[in-house]
Amino acid sequence: MQINPKYRNNPAFNKALSAHSEVTSAKKMGALGTNTKSCSNRSTQGLQPSADTAKIKAYRKFNIKLKERSGEILFNPKNKNQNRVCGCGKRRIDKEMPVGVQFDASNGVARYSNLQYCGSVWVCPDCSYKISQERKKELAEAMKACRDKGLHVAMLTLTVPHYLGDDLKTLLKKMSKAKHSLWTNRNSREYLADQFQMMGHITATEVKYSDNNGFHPHFHILCFLDKQYSKEDLQTIESELYELWAEKCVKSGLGKPNRRNGSLESGQEKYAVFDNVGSLRISTNGSKYKR
Ligand SMILES: [Zn+2]
Repeated sequence: MQINPKYRNNPAFNKALSAHSEVTSAKKMGALGTNTKSCSNRSTQGLQPSADTAKIKAYRKFNIKLKERSGEILFNPKNKNQNRVCGCGKRRIDKEMPVGVQFDASNGVARYSNLQYCGSVWVCPDCSYKISQERKKELAEAMKACRDKGLHVAMLTLTVPHYLGDDLKTLLKKMSKAKHSLWTNRNSREYLADQFQMMGHITATEVKYSDNNGFHPHFHILCFLDKQYSKEDLQTIESELYELWAEKCVKSGLGKPNRRNGSLESGQEKYAVFDNVGSLRISTNGSKYKR
């Protein structure tokens, strides 16, 4: 999933991409995974619905322009079936009915009805914005339930080595395998049960991009814990988890991750960090979260 060279040299396109994703060097990256998808984007990086309505409208307008561009890039005249983003917001659900306009006076936002949307958090900035808003609410509910039950949270960040030219799809596939191994292989499963027992977790998969280092996919895992660990304990667990993660990465065909790039941090405030992580997808593993 590398950027088509014909677009890389298009200053207008690159400018638009940078403005949207606020791409920064991979060195400065921090990190996010499960059933449903959601995309972290500028909406999860500080541009909240409560902010100035004009800014929100401008942001939506910009997102729709990006969606158009995404559709242009992914449109292939040779294909019979196009990527859904190509028709996002352009086709009626019920062809017999007209497109309607609904206005919500409480927030001053209008929306169309009877239109199909693609629902892709990866390639559609418009849908990703809307889904992210819902994911934020779910996360807030999870955090409230966590507080009500006296649980604690820690955020685990898992990264992998990546280089310019790496194929994103391949990286994500290998990372997913490594993460699955981390949860299910006997050594790591027993370690977690003994030393870092989680009541549940929510994983967010984040992908950033820089012209120097290419795609930088990583996981942010919000861990729900029934005990509060000291800073020293967390450092020890982080070191030991790193060894286990490194082992799973190598076995999954990835390089050995850099020790400095992973982290395990505790505190309710980490929810805010997690929630504000910028990039492509947030997904939740509801089955792992026990209320
Ligand atoms: Zn869409």
